[in-house]
Amino acid sequence: MAQNRMAPNKRKRLFRRKKVCRFCADSSIAIDYKDPQTLRFFTTERGKIIPGRVSGNCAKHQRKLTAAIKRARTIALMPYAATLSHY
Ligand SMILES: [Zn+2]
Repeated sequence: MAQNRMAPNKRKRLFRRKKVCRFCADSSIAIDYKDPQTLRFFTTERGKIIPGRVSGNCAKHQRKLTAAIKRARTIALMPYAATLSHY
């Protein structure tokens, strides 16, 4: 029962719950293939594109995003598959 005793005033920010498309929520974020910094948010560290059902993007933006990532790959701004060095 004592679940909320830590920070009663903290915003309810439960990740993986109530996913909202980042691009719909913030229209200032542009999906741009020349901007690998942004695109990298939606790929794994190995360079795979995170599916929309995981990242929470809507279908419309997920399509634009994958198109942008693929375009960025062809001009070598993003990796197709980053090699994980064996540790
Ligand atoms: Zn969206």
